[in-house]
Amino acid sequence: MSTRTPLMAGNWKMNLDWKQGLALVEELGERLKDVDTSAVEVVVLPPFVDIRTVQTVVESDRIPLAYGGQDISAHESGAYTGEVSGQMLKALGASYAAVGHSERREYHGEDEQVTNAKVKAAFAAGLVPILCVGEPLEQRQAGKHVEYTLAQLEGGIEGLTAEQAAQIVIAYEPVWAIGTGEVATPDDAQEVCREIREALRAIHGDSVADAVRVLYGGSVKSSNVVELMGKEDVDGALVGGASLKAEEFAKIAGFQS
Ligand code: PEP
Repeated sequence: MSTRTPLMAGNWKMNLDWKQGLALVEELGERLKDVDTSAVEVVVLPPFVDIRTVQTVVESDRIPLAYGGQDISAHESGAYTGEVSGQMLKALGASYAAVGHSERREYHGEDEQVTNAKVKAAFAAGLVPILCVGEPLEQRQAGKHVEYTLAQLEGGIEGLTAEQAAQIVIAYEPVWAIGTGEVATPDDAQEVCREIREALRAIHGDSVADAVRVLYGGSVKSSNVVELMGKEDVDGALVGGASLKAEEFAKIAGFQS
C-alpha cells in the first residue's frame, strides 16, 4: 500500500480571465468541503495573471487548495521579456510550477536542456516542479513510448539531488491523449508510470522511487479517474479541460469517496 498522498492538479491553460478564475475558485472552495482534503492534495495552475486573485481567495476563505504556474522562467531575474520567475511565483504563495508541458515543448521548442534548467529554477525558488513527459502518437505506434518518455525524464531531472528527486512530481502525459478525449487505458498509464518510477529507482534508489509522485494526464474526467487511480504507480492526475468546471474537478479530487 502506497504512502504517497494523491495529487490532483488542474491545468487551466490559457483559459479563464481573473474574474472567471475567481468564480471557479470560489465554487471549488464550496465543493471541496465535501472532499476529504487530508487524503488528497488539490492544486490549480492558473494563467499567471490570475494567480494574485487565486491567492487572495484561497487565503481569505482558507480553501485547501495549492496553486502554481503553468511555466517558469529558467532565469532568476533580468532582461527576459515576457517571462515570470520562480521568486515571483513564490512571492504569490505558489507551491508548484509545471515544466515541459507538451504544449510548451511543441509551440515553444522546449527541449531537455530547457526543462532541466526550469526544474532547477523551480527548486531554487522553493517551488516543486511538475515535470511533464510523454510521447507523441508516432512513438506510441512504433512501440517506442517508454524509451521516448524516459529520455525526457532523464534529461529533465539531470543533476538533481536525491532530496530534490524525491520531491519532484512527474506527470506522464501521452501527447495523443491530451485534449483529444482519447484517454490512455489504465494499463497504458500504469506501464509508463511504473517505468518512470523504476528509472528513478535506478538513478536515486528505493526511498526516492517510493516517495515520488507520478501523475497521469490526458483526458482525465470524473468518469475515468477511479479506474486510473486504481493502478499502483498512478499517484494522481494532471487535468486540463475537466479542471475548468468546479463540479467536475471537485469530483475528480473526491475520487476516493
Ligand atoms: C493537460 O493539459 O495537461 C491535459 C492533460 O489536458 P486534458 O485533460 O484536457 O487532456
